[in-house]
Amino acid sequence: MKTAPFISLACLIAGLLPAQAQDSNVVLVIHGGAASRRDKINTPESERLSREGLRAAIQKGYEVYKKGGSSLDMVEASIRVMEDNPVFNAGKGAVFTLQGNNELDSSIMEGRGLKAGAVAGVTVVKNPITAARAVMEKSKHVLLVSEGANTFARENGLEIVDPSYFRTEPRWQELQEYLAKEKARSEIPQQPDGMWSTVGAVARDRNGDLAAGTSTGGMAYKRWGRVGDSPIIGAGTYADNEAAGVSATGHGEFFIRYAVTHDIVALMKYKGLSVQDAADEVINRKLKAAGGEGGVICLDKRGNMASAFNTDGLFRAYVTREGAITVKLFKE
Ligand code: ASP
Repeated sequence: MKTAPFISLACLIAGLLPAQAQDSNVVLVIHGGAASRRDKINTPESERLSREGLRAAIQKGYEVYKKGGSSLDMVEASIRVMEDNPVFNAGKGAVFTLQGNNELDSSIMEGRGLKAGAVAGVTVVKNPITAARAVMEKSKHVLLVSEGANTFARENGLEIVDPSYFRTEPRWQELQEYLAKEKARSEIPQQPDGMWSTVGAVARDRNGDLAAGTSTGGMAYKRWGRVGDSPIIGAGTYADNEAAGVSATGHGEFFIRYAVTHDIVALMKYKGLSVQDAADEVINRKLKAAGGEGGVICLDKRGNMASAFNTDGLFRAYVTREGAITVKLFKE
């Protein structure tokens, strides 16, 4: 009885706090890309495969959480599952460059010490997210590219595959169709199926440490060593324990120019925006006005999850501390 006034005072204060200031219970959020036009891309079968793929990845990340793994471990584990799944444009399912090979990009960052690692244009590394983490933890550098990154991965005992491992038939056919259209000078889509199916993850572990990571085959038919936003810290990936972790997907050139993931964190830190308001400001106002298609997933320092996309969909999933999983593809 004696404690009742304190309890009711605490409840009153909690009720007065803005929702975002209270601790929420999301520990991991992942994405499998943004869908620019729903009508163009999805069959019930492809939607089913995407949902299944997201569920498998988030389950894996949650297992790591339950065993007491760090946010970096959770991010790496869930992204590896998506890299191994040909449904996503990362690892095994990477899109082709115009030259007919696969060049993969990835990055990872942790929010406590602001350490980061990234690889770009790797061609023989089975799991680029693991290479990105190795760059962060085992080198003096942040970003390694192409042959140097391949060599670094080899020297650090990472799993190396023949480049043909990344050749999947649907992606190869897309390239052939593209080349035929280019030859006939007919209208060429920006992405083969209206899908930016890059993958990403943001986690918050038991210590409250945030981490974020992103992995991709890049934009289909890219050329001349093109590198997108996914391996660029501040564009495709950012994490800061003082604000949030963010992973992006979409038209990379815009995400680089607008420093999207860092901008979201900066709006939170310097202007006090909530994670959802910051994500909306950047994705649905700035980027949309500029014509940049895509979206982000975010997890703030209190475990509040946010997503924002200016496309028809953003394939995403999240899991709570208790293990409740939610999978969403569109505006649902
Ligand atoms: N952002 C990636 C890139 O531009 C593509 C994607 O998100 O699917 O390389």
